[in-house]
Amino acid sequence: MASRVRILVVEDDEKSRRLLTDVLAFHGYEVAAAGSGEEGVRSASSAAPDAALLDIQLPGISGFEVLAALREPCCCGERLPVVAVTASVMDQDRKKILAAGFNAFISKPVNIRELLATLESLLTKAAT
Ligand code: MN
Repeated sequence: MASRVRILVVEDDEKSRRLLTDVLAFHGYEVAAAGSGEEGVRSASSAAPDAALLDIQLPGISGFEVLAALREPCCCGERLPVVAVTASVMDQDRKKILAAGFNAFISKPVNIRELLATLESLLTKAAT
C-alpha cells in the first residue's frame, strides 16, 4: 500500500492551523502541523513532507526563513514544493514571495478549493 502524501503545515494561529489540518486530513493527506517556524524546521527532517504550507507571519523566524531552512540539502532539498500563505494582498509582497523561491502563494482567508488545487498541481509536477 502506498504511503499517503504528507504535508507540513506551519501556522502560528491555532484556529487556522486546525482548519488547515482538518481539511487536508479530510482530503486524504497526512499532516505534520507546527505552531512556529522553528518547530516546523525541526519536524521537517523526521516528517519528510511531500509539500509544505508556510504562514509568512510567524512569531519567531518568518516563513521566508523556514523556506530557506527546508530547502537545505540536509533537510528537504530544493525540490520540495512550498506554498506561502499570506494575509498580504500587496503586489510587492507577492513578488517578494515568488522571488524568494516559494512555488506558489495563497491568500488569507484561505479558499479551500484554491488550496487543494494548488497543492495537487504542485504535487503532480513534483512527481514527474
Ligand atoms: Mn501567522
